[in-house]
Amino acid sequence: MRILVVEDEKKLADALVQIFGSNRMIADASYNGIDGLDNALSGIYDVIVLDIMLPGMNGIEVLGKLRKEGIKTPVILLTAKDEVSDKVKGLDSGADDYLTKPFATEELLARVRALNRRSASELICDDTLSFSDLSLDLSAYTLSCGNNMIKLGLKEFSIMEMLLRNGNKVLTKETLLVRIWGYESDAEYNNVEVYISFLRKKLGYIRSKVSIKTQRGVGYSLEAK
Ligand code: CA
Repeated sequence: MRILVVEDEKKLADALVQIFGSNRMIADASYNGIDGLDNALSGIYDVIVLDIMLPGMNGIEVLGKLRKEGIKTPVILLTAKDEVSDKVKGLDSGADDYLTKPFATEELLARVRALNRRSASELICDDTLSFSDLSLDLSAYTLSCGNNMIKLGLKEFSIMEMLLRNGNKVLTKETLLVRIWGYESDAEYNNVEVYISFLRKKLGYIRSKVSIKTQRGVGYSLEAK
């Protein structure tokens, strides 16, 4: 799961990125409304945590523009105490939830998970993604084939999830790089190749007949032998 935090209190933003990170989510931070909107428009996020009072452009405007562009990523608004009219405005402009500052991080985590489940459930009926003899458990982070099962690391899991959602279609290295490592990172195609090779080993280990096919110069797709 990839999360965008838009919050100008740098300490809070960075703390949230860390907390998401230690809860198996990948998070990026933007410190003002304009950067936040730019990042959110990429459409690569599963949930956006959006502060209302922001320099550049406030959270309600960011949200309005996002929805106008057709980006339906679930948004949790962060509001200061007693900004009741902001809450109403926020929900009117298409926020999915809001949280009043100060809040307990456990509560934010629970709400982020709930929103992600809600949007994910539109794509899948249960907590697994399947392709041929392969299934990926989205809550336990395990990949299995028959009775063989192996645990995946966060990046491996995220890559496998994208491959499974894409099925036979080719997933480009660029898409993987941006979605898994983010725009700001120094990661290169090499990093993608390394994780693909880890996944190939794991596919062999659980004896799946599914393999990750390299489309030279383009990217990867799944293939069942
Ligand atoms: Ca603020």
